[in-house]
Amino acid sequence: MNAARTAGPPAPAPGRGALKRTLDDLALFGGRAAFLRPLSVGTPNPVDRVRLYERLDWALDNQWLSNGGPLCAEFEARVADLAGTRHAVATCNATSALHLLVRAAGLTGEVIMPSLTFAATAHAVQWLGLTPVFCDVDPRTGLIDPDLARAAVTPRTSAVIGVHLWGRPCDTTALEKLAADHGLHLFLDAAHALGCTHGGVPVGAAGAAEVFSFHATKVVGAFEGGAIVTDDDALAARVRALANFGKGLDEVSQAGGTNAKMSEAAAAMGLTSLDALPAYVEANQACQRGYRDGLARIPGLTLRLPDDTERHNHQYTVLEVDEHVTGLGRDLLMELLRAENALVLPPIGSPPCHLLEPYRSRQAYALPHTEALAARTISLPTGPGVGPESVRRLCETIRFAVAHGAELTARHRRTDRKGPA
Ligand SMILES: *Cc1c(COP(=O)(O)O)cnc(C)c1O
Repeated sequence: MNAARTAGPPAPAPGRGALKRTLDDLALFGGRAAFLRPLSVGTPNPVDRVRLYERLDWALDNQWLSNGGPLCAEFEARVADLAGTRHAVATCNATSALHLLVRAAGLTGEVIMPSLTFAATAHAVQWLGLTPVFCDVDPRTGLIDPDLARAAVTPRTSAVIGVHLWGRPCDTTALEKLAADHGLHLFLDAAHALGCTHGGVPVGAAGAAEVFSFHATKVVGAFEGGAIVTDDDALAARVRALANFGKGLDEVSQAGGTNAKMSEAAAAMGLTSLDALPAYVEANQACQRGYRDGLARIPGLTLRLPDDTERHNHQYTVLEVDEHVTGLGRDLLMELLRAENALVLPPIGSPPCHLLEPYRSRQAYALPHTEALAARTISLPTGPGVGPESVRRLCETIRFAVAHGAELTARHRRTDRKGPA
């Protein structure tokens, strides 16, 4: 694909990596990469290892390693506190948390959700034999459009799952009304939205329950982990029992159960990561300020940043590229940055669920806003490992690329056709 890379490393003048004066300076065309070490999206946020090992030692000394141990209970209390809910039930991951909700609510038939989300939202439903039904998003926010969700209701619909994509809360008020009007269950996939607020209220208390993910790549990680938060006492008891083989409630044991418990090791990691949440948020925010400054006033580029009036975890920085203006498409910009060792990725939701198997071949959808957003967006690196100089370099490289958008695209086409030299 890339002549320069297959031909071996070029020998550029030292220190030229960051400074791009001509197209030849781009690593894509044989120049020196702007980043010596890979700058990646989705690297796990670092934790205080001493504190983590202390917690692990304590668990090992006490020989209480799972089944709702003290670390798990502490983790749940802190998650419920953050979410402002009466209950948090920690699980082995968010996908299992969604499974528990589907079972606890006795859902059947169809579940309406946005297609612009991580595949897990759809897979969790599909895995249990239900049918995810995808609806389009509001193009301004990238979030489920409640009117389109309403239009997707059929006699087979049993629930709606809203998604707080990239940490931005979806319109839970409208979705709650929709659920009430049609007698549907409403759950929220809040995997991205830990520590965020909606109208000044912490994310967590909308619908019947919300689900957080503590996967290693999320803002707070527990290696693997999830949690269901809710104010509904009966629902909390039910999912807790279902997550532990159905033990504890007579009524639930009829339904069987599964094993979706969080281990003490995961809780130790989750607690230690939670300790650092304010530091992660600060680092993410500093990155976003850098991107905002560095990418200001570049025609055709829009940063999708969180609402200033809300508290936010700032974990996801999404850049939208309008190829009609920049002359440079999202995919080529991504390839170019990756050659510079800035390992950017499409954001979560790209590709959207309806274009993934097993959904793609089952039903054709027309979701123009979802497809446009999924095709035009890039996720930029954030977190404590991404310093201001890296953000500045990345912005300069993007600025240079867009300034030469059309020329660069044409040259790439020629190079691509010729193949490796
Ligand atoms: C990560 C993620 C999930 C799944 O979380 P796991 O803990 O990995 O199972 C679900 N939904 C969204 C939107 C996610 O980003």
